[in-house]
Amino acid sequence: MTVALVYPELLGTYGDSGNATVLVQRLRRRGQEARALTVHADQVVPATCELYVVGGGEDLPQELAAAKLRAARPLHRAVEAGSVVLAVCAGLQVLGERFAGPDGRATDGLGILDCVTERTGSPRAIGEILVQPAAEWAGQGLPVLTGFENHGAVTELGPGCRPVGRVIAGVGNHDGTVEGAVAGRVWGTYMHGPVLARNPCLADMLLSWVVGSLGPLDDTEPEALHDERARLGSLERRLGGPVQEASRWARLRRARSGQ
Ligand code: GLN
Repeated sequence: MTVALVYPELLGTYGDSGNATVLVQRLRRRGQEARALTVHADQVVPATCELYVVGGGEDLPQELAAAKLRAARPLHRAVEAGSVVLAVCAGLQVLGERFAGPDGRATDGLGILDCVTERTGSPRAIGEILVQPAAEWAGQGLPVLTGFENHGAVTELGPGCRPVGRVIAGVGNHDGTVEGAVAGRVWGTYMHGPVLARNPCLADMLLSWVVGSLGPLDDTEPEALHDERARLGSLERRLGGPVQEASRWARLRRARSGQ
């Protein structure tokens, strides 16, 4: 299994490249072979990987990445062949039909996801986000997802894709109602974190689309982080601002290091 990390120097804000590490490590911990293939911006993106990770980015690098991916069409070919793609924030926007370029003007995306992203003058969405996954995924055991969002543009979905789920706290695609854009095996989300470190269940779901069902792992630490973030996200929503609380995650780390 090869996980391609696409142009991390252009699309890799907030540690999104870590998503590739999480995917590879979760397979290796189960004794399966996996490797991450970092494809730099001056390299050709192969169309034959099983899984692709595309991260978030600022407006100008995002436009550059889109131009390259439009020209060579590796993601189009990979998706047609059944590869799985995780696209975060600018990644989601780039995979859509159009997005807002650095000057705010409409820029062509890849047209892999049926969605359009533009600037509407609404304030930049920054902060913790909690999402209740749609029934299809919740029914498979996917819990509430937690992440961090930071985007200036907003996304409207067309009929060809559906949201990841309903926003419990935060902004999501547009107005605090829904988050993400999913079509087939392409999972677009506004969640940084990295999202797969925050939500190992999501990592396993994407992996299972490639390798089939997976046995359990000891996820004590990421589950503690997940639960802390979920509590914090709800609290921030109720208080309408950032909250500082003694972190269960930090306590766990201190306990582990014997301090
Ligand atoms: N540049 C895009 C926006 O601001 C995406 C930001 C991101 O990837 N964090 O909407």
